Amino acid sequence: MKRKNLWAPWRVKYIQGIAGETGGCFLCDYLATPEKDKDNLLLWRTKQAFVVFNKFPYNNGHLLIAPNRHIADFSDASDAEMLCMMKLVRDCQAVLSKAVNPHGFNVGMNFGRCAGAGLPGHAHIHVVPRWNGDTNYMHVCSDTDVISQSLDDLYDKLIEISQTEQLPTVGT
Ligand SMILES: [Zn+2]
Repeated sequence: MKRKNLWAPWRVKYIQGIAGETGGCFLCDYLATPEKDKDNLLLWRTKQAFVVFNKFPYNNGHLLIAPNRHIADFSDASDAEMLCMMKLVRDCQAVLSKAVNPHGFNVGMNFGRCAGAGLPGHAHIHVVPRWNGDTNYMHVCSDTDVISQSLDDLYDKLIEISQTEQLPTVGT
């Protein structure tokens, strides 16, 4: 399983992150510490929801959109939260399109561990840029230092684009 090996360093960090600090939900931890947004790679906050980088990404630019409230399932989400998250899906795609020029996107949700959810307890939407032949892309980026650098660089790039583009949802 090449891909598992490739992303293993991230997974370790991610698991340590979950176990650390409050011992609770890392998304809620991120929300509670705005001064650490850059360290946490938290991109945008709105009244209803926020956007963070997935630190163990399936692909370059893999983002997570989550409601501000710790809810396990969208059956508990308000209309305002659902609307905001869908608007953020649109904005994430717009910014990623400018930043990394993907050929397509996967946008998806997993509920419960059996469905592959990595963070049971805090619902979230995945936005994953895709490129034709992006399996090959992962081979190219098999050096984890390169990946680490590119996450920080891409974070800065997405922030910059969102400021110049004045996205409708960001900042609301
Ligand atoms: Zn949470």
